[in-house]
Amino acid sequence: MTKINEKSQTRPDLSMPVQFLKGVGPARAKTFAQLGVETVGDLLEYFPRDWNFLPEPSKIGQMQPNETVTIFGMIESTDYQSYRRQPLFEALISDDTGVCRIVWFHGGYLSNQLEPGQVIMVSGKVTLYKHQLQLTNPKFFVLDEEHPQPPEYFSGGIYPACEGLSSGQIKMIVSRVHDAVDELVPELYDERFCKRANLISRKNAFRWIHLPPDEEKLAQAKRRLKYDELFLMQLGLALRRYKVQHFSKAVPCGCTDKIDSRIRRRFPFLLTEDQNACISEIIADMDKSEPMNRLLQGDVGSGKTVVALYAALLAVANKMQVAIMAPTEILAGQHFLSIERYLKNSNVKRILITGGMTGKKRNEVLNAIGSGEIDIVVGTVALLQADIEFQKLGLVVIDEQHKFGVAQRAQLRKQTTPHCLVMTATPIPRTLAMTAFGDLDVSVIRHSPPGRRAVITRWVSRHDRQKAYEFIRERLKAKKQAYFVYPRITAVEQASDVKAATDEWERLSKKVFPEFNVELLHGQMPSAKKQKVMSEFRKGKIDLLVSTIVVEVGVDVPNATIMVIEGADRFGLAQLHQLRGRIGRSDAKSFCFLFTETDNETAKSRLEIMARSSDGFEIAEHDLRLRGPGEMFSTRQHGLPDLKIANIVDDFDLLVMARKNAFEMVSNDPMLTRAEHKNIRRALLAKFGDAIGLADVA
Ligand code: ADP
Ligand code: MG
Repeated sequence: MTKINEKSQTRPDLSMPVQFLKGVGPARAKTFAQLGVETVGDLLEYFPRDWNFLPEPSKIGQMQPNETVTIFGMIESTDYQSYRRQPLFEALISDDTGVCRIVWFHGGYLSNQLEPGQVIMVSGKVTLYKHQLQLTNPKFFVLDEEHPQPPEYFSGGIYPACEGLSSGQIKMIVSRVHDAVDELVPELYDERFCKRANLISRKNAFRWIHLPPDEEKLAQAKRRLKYDELFLMQLGLALRRYKVQHFSKAVPCGCTDKIDSRIRRRFPFLLTEDQNACISEIIADMDKSEPMNRLLQGDVGSGKTVVALYAALLAVANKMQVAIMAPTEILAGQHFLSIERYLKNSNVKRILITGGMTGKKRNEVLNAIGSGEIDIVVGTVALLQADIEFQKLGLVVIDEQHKFGVAQRAQLRKQTTPHCLVMTATPIPRTLAMTAFGDLDVSVIRHSPPGRRAVITRWVSRHDRQKAYEFIRERLKAKKQAYFVYPRITAVEQASDVKAATDEWERLSKKVFPEFNVELLHGQMPSAKKQKVMSEFRKGKIDLLVSTIVVEVGVDVPNATIMVIEGADRFGLAQLHQLRGRIGRSDAKSFCFLFTETDNETAKSRLEIMARSSDGFEIAEHDLRLRGPGEMFSTRQHGLPDLKIANIVDDFDLLVMARKNAFEMVSNDPMLTRAEHKNIRRALLAKFGDAIGLADVA
């Protein structure tokens, strides 16, 4: 231990535990670990969450309105005006050029801190009040013999802190490795590139992000670090893609006119232009011996299932098997049902695997899949990944609904590499999706099939609830069906304002709609019971279905034309849009009511967006802007670590540049073995470990 300690005191390296830094020790190291900081490398990447800047000192006589200034002066007089509606503490300060009024609202606490005769530094924005310049609520620091200068914490980084480790302490410890930064962070790119791309050196970036001399340099530091982060992520994706392209083989599934028309005959309608475009892209992909890796995006009800079924039948026509995976059993059942509808009287052998399938029956099915007898297998991701051996798996279709990830796919790729089609109803702007996840191809269904009616959407405050119930009653009398969706199954005490499905089911069935058949559906009910409720709702035996968001996925009941979402402000916009997609599936008018108890204006304006727009892509963009990309698609889902400083929405320009450069680099030097790529290679391994399989190829 001591040996490392001695050594490290002189030359810290990135993997050295922070414990061995001066001022840390075992106890603080534990606190650092809570912040995710274990090594010196982690510490360097523990970026401030905000920065303070003090402007250069100026003179009172030169102050201009709206300018942010730092001035030094002597307090001439003070006055606390507690009688005002907004009590304020006032001080007059002077330097050799003039006198200035300083005001702190609610500044009573300053009465025993500030007094005439003191020398004080104040920093803030200059305002004009009754023709006089003044500073309102400025930062200040009283100077004395002991503190002739304002301390450093007035400028520089503010770190996310925790109990036992303040921002100031973190800052002090970070400053200990500052001198070593030159050695710790080697440059990744050559000088010419940095110049062309307008990027400062990596070591300056690390220095300035922690201790920026001014805002301009901070901006440059951020830009460089964001670029590096995005570049390494894209490089990881580029390498992964290179590996798939060169080291895994798929069985090509060719398409002929005969196959094409035989498949199309299965659909009782003409495919839309968007569907046809997606199918062409899929045909081109599946024709190759390189495995397809395609994302199919489209709003709920836009006709993705039909496109996926086309791909499945193309694989079957090429004597290959297909696995169709859904996130839940309900959804798997739905997929199977709609496939059954299209494949009536067809020779294609298909089966639905359920959790309830056990013993002899299950063994028979597994054998049939293993011998290649069954063409299409539908089930949940969990079931299909368990222990099922296919004889010749040619295509995997994954319905992710609104998740966005590819991690599961890897596990299915054992001996053979099937083509892969991922469906998602998260309408992420295409360019963003392609760019962020550089190893995916993307197809989009932008326009839904014709004949679908826009859903009329209203948000309903608690005062209008009764009116909405009466409106719904009229519709139910006309034999239409309704969904009532709740954020929770049962009520929790702490959040009594959140209505729960179980309680509301009681109330709705007994008090509000006693004349109708009201049933309950939620994820914790036994599978058989769920299936029964769904099937009765589908047959029209249930008028009103009270549920949690289990209905979000895949339920298709055209006669259900009403959707009520309780606690609507608790759902993300994209999720509300998904839910709304359950209705508007027939020629009849559909209505979506967003019930909310909130008085929060932002929450209401979000619901207003839902009322205004029916375009999933537009809504998704609002959601991205309002909530950030984190929830919608984290890179972690993609098998890569999350981004620390860059953000694929705000830093899209940098992302585009990083992607281009990364893919170029991999095409020139696939395994990054060239000497000039040594540092990049090292940084990549440090960041991703071997998640991207760089080590095994080299
Ligand atoms: P998604 O999977 O994107 O939610 P589906 O493929 O389930 O959408 O299609 C939704 C509905 O639209 C289904 O009832 C389907 O039969 C119908 N549909 C799909 N494509 C067309 C089309 N080209 N013309 C008319 N109806 C279509
Ligand atoms: Mg669907």
